[in-house]
Amino acid sequence: MLRTLNTPETSGKSNLCGLSRDELRAALAVAGVPEGQTKMRAQQLWHWIYNKGATSFDVMTNVSKDMRATLEKTCEIRRPEVSVAQLSEDGTRKWLVRLDDGNEVEAVFIPEDDRGTLCVSSQVGCTLTCKFCHTGTQRLVRNLTAAEIVGQVLIARDALGEWPSPSDGRLLSNIVLMGMGEPLYNFDNVKQAMKIVMDPEGISLSKRRITLSTSGVVPMMQRCGEEIGVNLAVSLHAVRDETRDAIMPINNKYPLKELLTACANYHGVSNARRITFEYAMLKGVNDSLEDAQELVRLLKKYDIPAKVNLIPFNPWPGTAFECSDWDTIHAFSEYVFNAGISAPIRMPRGRDIMAACGQLKSASEKIRKADLPASGPAATSA
Ligand code: SAH
Ligand code: SF4
Repeated sequence: MLRTLNTPETSGKSNLCGLSRDELRAALAVAGVPEGQTKMRAQQLWHWIYNKGATSFDVMTNVSKDMRATLEKTCEIRRPEVSVAQLSEDGTRKWLVRLDDGNEVEAVFIPEDDRGTLCVSSQVGCTLTCKFCHTGTQRLVRNLTAAEIVGQVLIARDALGEWPSPSDGRLLSNIVLMGMGEPLYNFDNVKQAMKIVMDPEGISLSKRRITLSTSGVVPMMQRCGEEIGVNLAVSLHAVRDETRDAIMPINNKYPLKELLTACANYHGVSNARRITFEYAMLKGVNDSLEDAQELVRLLKKYDIPAKVNLIPFNPWPGTAFECSDWDTIHAFSEYVFNAGISAPIRMPRGRDIMAACGQLKSASEKIRKADLPASGPAATSA
């Protein structure tokens, strides 16, 4: 049976996940924790929720039974629901995450030899309508709450069995805000979620292991560097305003000159902490040697410590674009490398489960759980 959308399944309890430390204290006070104890209790709960991965109060052995019963009455520790979990042939995992209002977003985990990267969504859909991106074709858009963003990280760690937080050798070692949505259009919630994820007494991921990707929301880039402090990736995809205007409408508002100036001034950027420029290779659109030359010229002109990720275009149903030929991609990469700028070709991961860059789109507009095969290499029920 198909599920009805927009049917909240909340219990009416106050969810403690996704709150800042101050908000957690306030929530505990409302729940009946005596004023003098809220700081200490918030500390304890923080550790249980974000270091040990607790999902109920029962397990909190250092909290008295009475206190646990008090909390249980009005509070909960809840992640969003996973409606489908998929595993790609290459080990990539994708979770379709169902939010309380029935909307859905996707989170993707990409295991590599030396790291494991979780790609997190920041919005349901995206308002920006980049022409080559599947997410940009989704009509429904809203910002995720901090709880829904942190929830994706908790869901991934539950599935990886990674509680309590290991100090080293982590499976989930990196986070990229490269899922659905434009994170700098949801700045406050993204900031709160990343502060929770970075908190040393909880999940404790270093800001150096977190990368935020933006399509170029210039006015928010400085605040991102100063207030969140994570690495920056910029979806560039074209080196001339004319082309970028056509494929990324945001360029009409913030053209290349402003974007590259903001990159050059990004807080903390250095040769050790470069800005990543993402460049999807689109056949006949942005893939000529002249484009490679212009790319190098611009990065040198603006003096930006940079690396370029060349992403073979990932197709999706109904797209008008094609991926550049392999020879063209290699020639482009070689030209940029020879100019002294790292430009690896990013092999697509999880294409078979539509988990690769730019392929994410809420399944509520695509497929329903009921329509998926009961078993098979790429689809397992959560
Ligand atoms: N909205 C943010 C975060 C999404 S990141 C941003 O645009 O930066 C996802 C990355 O995949 C972006 O660099 C995006 O431009 C790129 N992308 C989108 N569609 C793609 C496609 N079909 N093939 C390859 N890369 C794509
Ligand atoms: Fe939105 Fe990024 Fe896709 Fe553009 S590339 S539509 S900004 S998610």
